Amino acid sequence: MSLINTVGLTDDQRMMREGVLDLLSRHLPWENVRKMDESREFPHEAYQALADAGYISLFYPEELGGMGGSYRDIAVFLETLGYYYTGIAQAITTSAVYAGMHIAKFGTPEQKKELVPKIIAGTAKLALAMSEPGTGSDVAGLKTFAERSGDEYILNGSKVWITCAHVADYLVVITRTDRDGANRHQGISTLLVPTNTPGVTIRPLSMLGRRTSHANEVFFDNVRVPAANLFGGEGKAWKNIMSCLGLERLGLAAISAGHCFKITEYARAYAKERVQFGQPISEFQVIQHKLADMLILSETARQMVYRTADVLDAGLPAVTEASIAKIVATENNFKCADIGMQVMGGAGYSMEYDMQMFFRDSRVGPIGGGTNEIQRNILAKQMDL
Ligand SMILES: Cc1cc2nc3c(=O)[nH]c(=O)nc-3n(C[C@H](O)[C@H](O)[C@H](O)COP(=O)(O)OP(=O)(O)OC[C@H]3O[C@@H](n4cnc5c(N)ncnc54)[C@H](O)[C@@H]3O)c2cc1C
Repeated sequence: MSLINTVGLTDDQRMMREGVLDLLSRHLPWENVRKMDESREFPHEAYQALADAGYISLFYPEELGGMGGSYRDIAVFLETLGYYYTGIAQAITTSAVYAGMHIAKFGTPEQKKELVPKIIAGTAKLALAMSEPGTGSDVAGLKTFAERSGDEYILNGSKVWITCAHVADYLVVITRTDRDGANRHQGISTLLVPTNTPGVTIRPLSMLGRRTSHANEVFFDNVRVPAANLFGGEGKAWKNIMSCLGLERLGLAAISAGHCFKITEYARAYAKERVQFGQPISEFQVIQHKLADMLILSETARQMVYRTADVLDAGLPAVTEASIAKIVATENNFKCADIGMQVMGGAGYSMEYDMQMFFRDSRVGPIGGGTNEIQRNILAKQMDL
């Protein structure tokens, strides 16, 4: 029994939800997910099937060959992916949103013409290379440097925690291009770097969760990049990064909200089957209340996601709403997994069941995409504190 209420969704959104779940059940059967998690295998078949069915075009405007989905459409789509499996959701958003949106919004006309159709078709994958060993929350402290030399840039430095770089065809690299910028937010630029360029080394990292779309280290050793690959204006990346955050946070929150429901349904099904003291444990009121709390966490996460989408659809930046949604949905996601594990007792803690994967997969939410401490700093600023 699904606990997801689709009241308020348009017929198209409801059909999209059903279509995505049907497609994933065929191209990423659930019995394969756990094996792929263990072998850290990227979900290529499901990724391509989603692209072939046109779903990646939802993120892009019609003038770039996309479907121009509303933020609500995008929220429903990502919630559905997150509900089915967070790893496929992360694979899609990394390329199409976190990296691809930089091209769609700020790319040169040539880059947009060349790359956006390939991203939509699933024939080009991108990764966003921003974080560095010395620079996570404090993005403006990044040290990777691209030195102009004639009609090229020579790129040196290293990046860390770069999701899906190991399967990416291109990296959207945030790099310093001016060491002497008076303000530390100036002098940061964006370079498009094909991953097969000499001097680029990508080393997979072993992460706790979402292992099918894992992170990597990336090293740049005198990488020669055509100057035409710099986009969004030299020294202008900071402002561009900021303008992508609303959609990024909406995406992270939507994936987590969907995942909350999956975990709740899984724990509920287990509790109805598991018999102790002669009765299913779901008949103990204490277990019922834990499951009710999980449903509350799921539904409140989802409502913040939809609220944020509505504010973005109204053309407003949704700075406050997006940060709240990111905090609520990612923290509720991990709380659901924690309560769900308790509901399942030893089985929850065992590698034989899915709950341990949900627990691991949900833990990254409060860390990635701007930690929840940074989100609370943003809220404090919005409150003029
Ligand atoms: C699985 C995963 C995938 C990722 N994918 C990508 C990717 O594709 N591309 C990419 O560029 N990056 C990626 N990241 C990096 C991610 O964005 C950073 O991990 C995150 O921004 C935090 O940076 P940090 O890990 O360096 O932690 P730090 O910045 O070192 O923070 C450590 C702790 O200090 C807190 N803290 C730091 N500054 C403050 C402050 N001012 N006020 C209060 N608390 C503070 C943090 O909240 C945190 O709790 C990924 C990370 C993970 C874990």
